[in-house]
Amino acid sequence: MKCEAAAQAENLIRGAGTTLAEWQASPSLACVPTITHQQLIPTGHRLIVIAPHPDDEILGCAGILAGMRGREADVVMLAVTDGDASHPRSQQWTPSRLRQQRPLESLHALDCLGLDASALDWQRLGLPDSAVAGQEDQLVKRLLEVVRPGDRLISTWRLDGHCDHEATGRAAACAALQLNACLIEVPIWAWHWARPNDPRIPWRRARKLMLDAPLLAQKRRAINAHVSQVTADGQTPAVLDQHTIERLLQPFELVFL
Ligand SMILES: [Zn+2]
Repeated sequence: MKCEAAAQAENLIRGAGTTLAEWQASPSLACVPTITHQQLIPTGHRLIVIAPHPDDEILGCAGILAGMRGREADVVMLAVTDGDASHPRSQQWTPSRLRQQRPLESLHALDCLGLDASALDWQRLGLPDSAVAGQEDQLVKRLLEVVRPGDRLISTWRLDGHCDHEATGRAAACAALQLNACLIEVPIWAWHWARPNDPRIPWRRARKLMLDAPLLAQKRRAINAHVSQVTADGQTPAVLDQHTIERLLQPFELVFL
């Protein structure tokens, strides 16, 4: 069952969306100040990545995650859903097959970033894909069990235009506020629906973590590790098409502080 917000999200996330070339010509984006990894996740602080679907952690913050090499013990990865509703009409990618496949893709992606997945705390929360909003209170409760004061939380942006992304962002904000943790939000689907100088984007809260060429190549490999999402299966086009991937492979990661 899809939440009410899903209908809105489908309105926002349709067609080809804003092109990479349009973003590259955006004065608002060009003016965003940079931030370093050490400023984002200072040594001694944990990073808690809260991903609504098993790929959002790579799409939104592969570079930030890669910067945690050698600090894996300070990383907690929370997969809010198993992402088993990504192919509702597919015979190839059934929900049960996706529940098995997508965690494997997540592990492969972490490997592509040079991270030791066995050294980080990775938890699957098992909330229903496309219906996180209906269990937002439950998600806050789970987060309150994991998050400690001083942690850096990364979640999808509260206004990202996808119901699960927004519910996850709201829950993360609620937990961060209660536990005096620091919330960092990342846009994912906003790259599709927002316009290059869109006033709906919180530009003043935006910062860029710059990614060099080797890191960008690692991020590309990590995205492509999500085989179920980047390939078409005959009945279903690729969930992550080339336009979407190229927009997410700009030489920086945009975060909202
Ligand atoms: Zn997602």
